[in-house]
Amino acid sequence: MSGGATRTTCPYCGVGCGIVARPLPDGTAEIAGDPEHPANFGRLCSKGAALGETLSLEGRLLHPHIHSALASWDKALDLVARKFSDTIAEHGPDSVAFYLSGQLLTEDYYVANKLMKGFIGSANIDTNSRLCMASSVAGHKRAFGTDTVPGTYEDLELAELVVLVGSNLAWCHPVLYQRLATARETRGTKVVVIDPRETATCEIADLHLAIAPGADVALFNGLLAHLVASGRLDQTYVAQHTRDLPAALSAASSMDLSEIAVATALSTSVIADFYELFAGTERVVTVYSQGVNQSSAGTDKVNAILNCHLATGRIGRSGMGPFSVTGQPNAMGGREVGGLANMLTAHMELDNAEHRRIVRAFWNAPTIAAKPGLKAVDLFRAVEDGRIKALWIMATNPVVSLPEADRVRAAIAACPFVIVSDVNHHTDTTALAHVLLPAAAWGEKDGTITNSERRISRQRAFLPSPGEARPDWWQMAEVAKRMGFGAAFSYTHPAEIFAEYARLTGIENDGTRDLDISGAAELSRGAYDALVPFQWPRRTGSEPKETRFFANGAFYTPDRRARFVPTPFRGLAQRRTAEMPLTLNTGRIRDQWHTMTRTAKSVRLMAHAPEPFVEIHPVDAAAFGIADGALAEIENLSGAIVCRAVVTDRQSAGSLFVPMHWTSELANRARVDTLVAAVTDPISGQPELKGTPVAIKPFEAAWQAYAVTRRVPDARGSAYFATAAASHGFRTEIALRDEPESWDELARQWIADGEDKSIELLAYHDGTAGQYRFAAFSGDRLVGALFVARGTLACARTWIAAQLLQSVPPSARLRLLAGRPGGEAKDRGPIVCACLDVGRNEIIEAITEHGAATVAAVGACVKAGTNCGSCRAEIKRILDAARIPEAV
Ligand code: SF4
Repeated sequence: MSGGATRTTCPYCGVGCGIVARPLPDGTAEIAGDPEHPANFGRLCSKGAALGETLSLEGRLLHPHIHSALASWDKALDLVARKFSDTIAEHGPDSVAFYLSGQLLTEDYYVANKLMKGFIGSANIDTNSRLCMASSVAGHKRAFGTDTVPGTYEDLELAELVVLVGSNLAWCHPVLYQRLATARETRGTKVVVIDPRETATCEIADLHLAIAPGADVALFNGLLAHLVASGRLDQTYVAQHTRDLPAALSAASSMDLSEIAVATALSTSVIADFYELFAGTERVVTVYSQGVNQSSAGTDKVNAILNCHLATGRIGRSGMGPFSVTGQPNAMGGREVGGLANMLTAHMELDNAEHRRIVRAFWNAPTIAAKPGLKAVDLFRAVEDGRIKALWIMATNPVVSLPEADRVRAAIAACPFVIVSDVNHHTDTTALAHVLLPAAAWGEKDGTITNSERRISRQRAFLPSPGEARPDWWQMAEVAKRMGFGAAFSYTHPAEIFAEYARLTGIENDGTRDLDISGAAELSRGAYDALVPFQWPRRTGSEPKETRFFANGAFYTPDRRARFVPTPFRGLAQRRTAEMPLTLNTGRIRDQWHTMTRTAKSVRLMAHAPEPFVEIHPVDAAAFGIADGALAEIENLSGAIVCRAVVTDRQSAGSLFVPMHWTSELANRARVDTLVAAVTDPISGQPELKGTPVAIKPFEAAWQAYAVTRRVPDARGSAYFATAAASHGFRTEIALRDEPESWDELARQWIADGEDKSIELLAYHDGTAGQYRFAAFSGDRLVGALFVARGTLACARTWIAAQLLQSVPPSARLRLLAGRPGGEAKDRGPIVCACLDVGRNEIIEAITEHGAATVAAVGACVKAGTNCGSCRAEIKRILDAARIPEAV
C-alpha cells in the first residue's frame, strides 16, 4: 500500500476485521477499517478503531528475565530448554505443559503444537480457547464428524430470520452486528435474541426470550419436537444425509410445552411464537456464542441447535445454517493446527492411528502423542497437584481468566518451573514466572489468523519490535533447537511455517478432511506477504472462492452422514440456595478486551465503564439493600469481590452480571473468576462461567474518594480501589472504611506523590458535612485532585478528569474544588459513544435543547452512535428516559 500504510487484521474478536494501519511519528498509528476486507468492508468497532492508542511501550516487557533479573535471550532459552529436557527425562513427557491463547497467530500455534505433540510426545497443550468455544468444537465433531462452521458472514445478511443465542453481538462482535442491523433495515430480517439479559443486541430484536440461565437445551429440544410434530422436517435431507433422528427426538420430546416454560422461565405463548417463527421461515441462521459454549451442558446446547438445522436441512445453503462465532481473533486458527489438548493437528485426531502415522511421518517426528492431554481446568489441577512440573504460558493471563482463579494462582506459584511469554511486564500471571520472555505485539509480528467464517487473513508488522521482543514462534523454535530438534524447527520466517502447515492439510486428504488449504502450500515469500484473505478449503489446483459446507450432506463421519445427538435437558450444574440466592453471569463489555492489558491504555475505551460493576434487577436490589451507584460485595465460598452496583431491569431478577475483564492491576477486588467454580462440560471441558450461585450485600465503606492524578495513586490497600486511564493520567475510585488521621496527609500521598515539591495544594474541609476536596497545582496547571465524601460522593467525574494538566487560573480554582464546571464550560457526563467521544450530557442536550427525537437524530446532532453503532441501545434508553418516544 502507499504512504507507509499496511493492511493487517484486528487482534480482538473473532469477526477478524481488516485494518489499514499507518504508523505515526509519536509511536501511535492511524487506524482505519480496510474497505477491501470481506469481513468488515471498512467498518471497525470502538475497540478496533482505538488500536492506535494501545501501542505505547508503557508497561511493555522488553527483555528476557530470569527470576526477575535481566537475562540474555541465550541464557533464558538455554534455561527453558534444559529445564524442559530434564523434567521430561526424569518425569516423562506428560510432566510438562503449554498453555496458549487465541491471541497467538496460526504460525505460533503450529510450532507449539508440533513441538509438544510430535517431539516432546505429550498432548498437554491447551489454550484459553477452551474457555471460549470448546463446546462448539465438540458439538460440531459429534454432529458433523469434524469441526466445521458451515456458513459465511454473508448468510446473516441473506437470512430471513437470525436467531442469536447467548450472543450479545452488538458488544462482542460489533461489526457483524452492524452487518445484521443493516440487513434488517434494508431487507426486513427478523431477529430473535435468546439471552437472560436484555443486552444492547435487543435493540434490533423482534423477539427477546429472556431465558433462564442454562435452559437453552430445553428450548431447542422443544423446537425439534415442534418441527417434527408440525411436519416441518426436510424429509429428503434427513433421509439422505443424517442418522439417529429418532433417538434425538425421543430425548427432545421428554418435556411438554408447559414443562419447557417452567425450565426456561418463558411463557408458553412466547415459546410458541418463537417455534412457529423458526418453523415457518426457510432462511434461518442461528448464531451462538459464549452463552451457549460456557456451560456445563455446552456441547449439548450446541447439538440441540444443530439438531434443528439438520432436521430442516437448513445448513450450508445461502442464508441458512448454525453459526458459532468465536470470541477470539484466532480461536479458529488454533483449532485448525491442533492447539487443543484433544486434537492432533490439521483436523486430524489423536485417537486415529492413521492420522498419527500421517502426521508423524510428515513431521519426521521421533514420537507422536497417542492420547489426549489435559484440558485447561484439568491442566491447572495437574499443576496444583504436582503432576505438571514445567509450564509455559503464552499470551494469556490465567490467574484472571480461569475459574477458581485464586486456586490457579496458588497452583502456578507452587509450580517448580514457570515460563511466561507476554507483551506486558506486569500482569497477575507474569508476577509468578521464573522466566519471562518478551513477545512481539500486534503491529510488530507477521502471520495469519482465521476468523469465525473460516477466512484466513494476514496480520502484518508495521512497527519494529521494541527492545528484545521476539515472535512467539521464534521463541519456541529456539527452545526446540536447544532440546535437540533443530532440523524440524529451522524456520527463519512465518511464511515457511504457514507453507508447511498448508502442505500438511493436503497430505493423504483426498476429500476425507474438511480442512485442506494445500492450494496455498507453494506460496513464495512474496506471495505470502501479499496474501489476500481467503476462506478454506482451498485445495490444490482450486481457486479461492466463497464456500459453505453440507448443503448436500458429505459430512466427515465414516458414512458421510450427520448425526442427530440426543440432548437430554439438565440445568445449571450448581443450583441457587438460601445462602447463595443469585446466579452470577460473567461476560464481555463493549469497549474492553479480555484482561484489559491493551484496551485499558485507551482513555476513550475506559471512559464508558471506568469501574468494575455488577448489574442487578431492581427487585433484587431492593431485597438485598443495594443502591444504584453504591458499592456491593458479591461472595460465595470461593471468595468475594467488590463492584459498583448498576440497578437495571435489563438484568433478569435472580441473576447478576459482572464483566470478566478487571484484574488486580486495575482494581483491588474485582477478579470475578475467583468466584466461579471449575465445573466443566464433561465432553468439551469448557467451564460454566455463566451460572455461579452467589450472595450480594452492600459493601460498607463510610468514605468515598475520587482522585485524578498523573500516576496511579498508592491506594491499593484501601477497602476498594479501581483505577482507569484518563487524559494525561488516571482517574481512581477509592473507598475507605475508617476516616484517616489526616486527609491532608493522604491527599499529599495520593495526588502529590512524585510531583515537584513546589506544588501548591488547595484544600477545602467541611468536617461536619464530611466533605474534603483538594487540588494540586504546579504553576497554573492542575496536577492532581482529590474529592472525598462521607457517604455518596457527587462530582462531575468526566469533567474533573479532563482538567488534568490544564491551565486553571486562580479565579477558577474554587470552581474546580466545587467539582463542577461553571460558566461556559460543560460537563459532558459519562462517555456513551466511545468511537466519537460523546458524553451522556451532550446526548441529553441534543434531545432536550435541539429536539432530537430519534437515535438517528441524536447521531445527526452530536454524531453519537454513527460509527460502530454499539452505543445505539444506550442512546435509545436515554431518549426513553427523556420521555421522547422514538419515531418508527
Ligand atoms: Fe476488531 Fe471485532 Fe471490532 Fe472487528 S468487530 S474491529 S475484529 S473487535
